[in-house]
Amino acid sequence: MEPAAGMKMAEAIELSESVNRIGASQTMAVAAAAEQLKSRGVDVADFGAGEPDFPTPEHIKRAAIKALDENRTKYTSTAGILPLRQAICDWHAAQLGSSYQPSEVVVTAGGKHAVFNSICALVNEGDEVVISSPYWVSYPDMVKYAGGRPVFIATHEERNFCPRPSDVEAALTGRTRIVIVNSPSNPAGAVVPREEFAKILGLCERRGVWLLSDECYSHFVYGEAKPFSVASLPEAKGRVIVAGSFSKTFAMTGWRLGYTMSPQPLAAAITKLQSQSTSNSTSISQYAGLEAMRGPMDSVAAMLAEYDRRRQRIVAGLRAIPGVTCAMPQGAFYAFPNISAHLNAAVPDDIALSKQLLEREHVAVVPGTAFGAPGHLRISYATSMDRIDEGLRRMGRFFGRSLG
Ligand code: PLP
Repeated sequence: MEPAAGMKMAEAIELSESVNRIGASQTMAVAAAAEQLKSRGVDVADFGAGEPDFPTPEHIKRAAIKALDENRTKYTSTAGILPLRQAICDWHAAQLGSSYQPSEVVVTAGGKHAVFNSICALVNEGDEVVISSPYWVSYPDMVKYAGGRPVFIATHEERNFCPRPSDVEAALTGRTRIVIVNSPSNPAGAVVPREEFAKILGLCERRGVWLLSDECYSHFVYGEAKPFSVASLPEAKGRVIVAGSFSKTFAMTGWRLGYTMSPQPLAAAITKLQSQSTSNSTSISQYAGLEAMRGPMDSVAAMLAEYDRRRQRIVAGLRAIPGVTCAMPQGAFYAFPNISAHLNAAVPDDIALSKQLLEREHVAVVPGTAFGAPGHLRISYATSMDRIDEGLRRMGRFFGRSLG
């Protein structure tokens, strides 16, 4: 079909209001542009991907192969196999100090699905969801899809983009339904200190608001910090929903495995929603996940050590570029430099700059605007040290020219 005919047909299709309220993920758009260049044989220094460059650990892969050999390839219960839900409770208790029962756990097709299902199970038309900015790209669209209204609170580079409890409080209204906290965060690597998390939880309790804790990067924290879950606080359970993921912790992005932990009636609602949409997450992935939860954690420690080395290198390299500032990420695997000093009439914003950076130097990054933070770039350092050095060389050349 000719593209023009395709466009006409798309215009003629009347889509639902809910789907028209959302946009396509901008991180996916960058990936597509970089892929196109790579397919033409161009050597792209790719800092776009939000996924570990490490393979899934061997013992987890072997568990999946065994599951296949044993024909564990049929439907499971919607909320996931009981041994996995139990293992998630045990792992979360041992690693992060919570205390949940399998009836409070729903296994999902990834952390994204866990956040989506939680929002869809709770948000009514016109409800507000508080999100700190810069935010993970999907939160606002998920809220809009459910008919809610995202309410953004600003964070600042000087505080490593960590949300302030007082700003959360100021954003709460009679319509607030959920506060989302993502610590460590994508895209800024912000880690909310325990005392501040406790304050945000206290606010949620007093105001009857849910605290959705996206723990996708829980195990990637640097320096003295230890993995922390707000669900470990004694008063948390009635007001907290944990959205967890196997994707980053165990380098399992393609397996599509995550979970929610919440009070049982909410878990039942999420299960109901899932039973009428996706059903259970992939059976084979669930058996792999069971091994991830029960097996050794040394691969996680090894990945963290390597991410830390890369973090130091990329932040030092970015800070050495004139006109670029960069907060030190406290967790996850992203640097979030401020490049606003390099914007001008010819390159008016971070979107134009990212485009030029890709075209001229073949460096793929994600514009900060995608995360609600214009003037910044998200640089994933889940890539080899060689690629980091090459990318820094190219960025140095690009920005040097732009200031000159
Ligand atoms: N939450 C955050 C903050 C993320 O960055 C991501 C992925 O990039 C997810 C959730 C979802 O990951 P997945 O659906 O692969 O578990």
